[in-house]
Amino acid sequence: MTTPEVTLILKDPAETLTCIPSPGNPIGRVSQGSIAIQGARILGVDRFDQLAQKYDLSGAQILDCTGKILAPGFVDAHTHVVFGGSRVREYALRMTHTPAEIRALGVPTGITASMEMTRAASEDELFHSAASRLAAMLRHGTTTVESKSGYGLSLAHELKMLRVNRRLQHHPERRRNEVPPQSKDALPHIVSTFLGAHAFPPDTSPESYVDEIIHQMIPAVVAQYLAEFCDVYIDEGYFNLEQARRVLSAARETGLKLKIHADQYSALGGAELAAELGAVSADHLNHTTPAAMRKLANAGVVGVLMPLIDFAVRHPQAFDARAMLDAGMTIALATDICPGGWTESMQLVMQFACRVHGFSPEEALFAATVGGARALALQDRGALAPGLRADVQVWDIPSFEDVIYRLGHNAVLGVVLNGQIAWGKGLDV
Ligand code: ZN
Repeated sequence: MTTPEVTLILKDPAETLTCIPSPGNPIGRVSQGSIAIQGARILGVDRFDQLAQKYDLSGAQILDCTGKILAPGFVDAHTHVVFGGSRVREYALRMTHTPAEIRALGVPTGITASMEMTRAASEDELFHSAASRLAAMLRHGTTTVESKSGYGLSLAHELKMLRVNRRLQHHPERRRNEVPPQSKDALPHIVSTFLGAHAFPPDTSPESYVDEIIHQMIPAVVAQYLAEFCDVYIDEGYFNLEQARRVLSAARETGLKLKIHADQYSALGGAELAAELGAVSADHLNHTTPAAMRKLANAGVVGVLMPLIDFAVRHPQAFDARAMLDAGMTIALATDICPGGWTESMQLVMQFACRVHGFSPEEALFAATVGGARALALQDRGALAPGLRADVQVWDIPSFEDVIYRLGHNAVLGVVLNGQIAWGKGLDV
């Protein structure tokens, strides 16, 4: 038997958070747990002298992580990161004006405003603006991002958005020293979601739009392999339960996995539908009842919670994360970066989850990594263990809890993506 050859080793950190719980160790802390990587996969997490006995380190690039903390890359499982233009004017006016007053000023608002700006943007423009946001997300430790369509709301423009996702997926990941630090070349891995059922476009009737989604959009998306998930926004003024059931059933027939924007402003039964149809995740859940939480837990549907979009829109009804965790649901945290609430930082999401919604620091990190991976049905990431993708962030903070203590701070010193150093400021290689 030959000794496995290590290609990269993250050496001698103060602590590694594997996110693999064990009794008395909810976040899988390994004191001085160096990480040995072969190609794009993790070989082992152990003390350096132990790894040196097991593996051939002769050809390994060594990254000195003395005093640092290592964690899995964040998995941001709900975003609208591809969009045209900006709604900064609407957002700024919201500080002092009601939505009706803003519309009276002639400022376009909401999903319709983003639809118009996204339709007006070229595929290139959408690609470059999303890539710039995604590069910033990577610098905040995020290595996998779900990206939804849903601002096109017509066959041509929905496909355009999804082609941008595909281009972002195939973007060449940065290799060591090939481009200067802080370049926009390294991007997180992208998971693509078709969200044609985000809202009703103004230029067609709701029923004919549902037909267009089912008979034109879903077949085209599937034929061109443009998405892995189909999502529907169920709420007052958006898609009702019957329309959602039709769209999601059609999507499921084609093999697309399912997600639902559920219970954000009203409880129309979106969470129950997610449980009934075997959706991978139900997202938002501000108005979800305890009975529905139990259904989600029993059906294994991941609850995706997004504290910063609720902050950005001053949502009147906080989701009850504690009740969901206690009901046995798997929870994922996500940014929901979108034109209505712009954040690139999963660390900030964790800070709000802990202080506002009662997560422990360990629960928040688990939800931001393992939870995110489960919300995307990905088994190969979210934790640090042999065989998993080598997506690792290096934190320059004295203790794990500093990541939720230092509000607005970016603890990330470097990011390893697919076993390659994708970004780093002053990393000693
Ligand atoms: Zn959303």
